[in-house]
Amino acid sequence: MANEACAACKFHGWSCEPDCIYAPYFPSDKMEDFVSVHRVYGIDNFVEIVNSVTDEHDREVAAQTMIIEAKIREDDPVYGIAGVAALLQAQINSVQAELDLVQNQVQFWKDMEELERERELIEEQLDSCPLGLLSAVVVVVVDEWVQLNLNIEEVSESGSES
Ligand SMILES: [Zn+2]
Repeated sequence: MANEACAACKFHGWSCEPDCIYAPYFPSDKMEDFVSVHRVYGIDNFVEIVNSVTDEHDREVAAQTMIIEAKIREDDPVYGIAGVAALLQAQINSVQAELDLVQNQVQFWKDMEELERERELIEEQLDSCPLGLLSAVVVVVVDEWVQLNLNIEEVSESGSES
């Protein structure tokens, strides 16, 4: 025999035929993969699941994902692949919270810029404003600054949460 026996045949002491059904998934250098899959699924169940998939490419994907799952299940017998999913979800949540905070801050500075522009505009108008309009303009300016202070409180509150 020109080729070395696949990991499954080597493990069982079988002679590995050219049409061996295990060889495509467990070449001779993948003994560790085979042992994990055999322990977690049983090699017959593995073959049954792989063969239940009709598309050739999907069959390969099914085999590779079961190999990954088997290794993770051995490392974490309690949570297995669900533990990895939960960990990744927690990371996504954490990054999302950080992103929300940054977007909040960006919005705050945009609002500040907008208020500054309005203030400059009002100042220009004040310079050429008859005295009768002055009180109305003052009311608008006070309103804007009250709103700005509310925004500052919001941002500093959300900033101190993390
Ligand atoms: Zn074989």
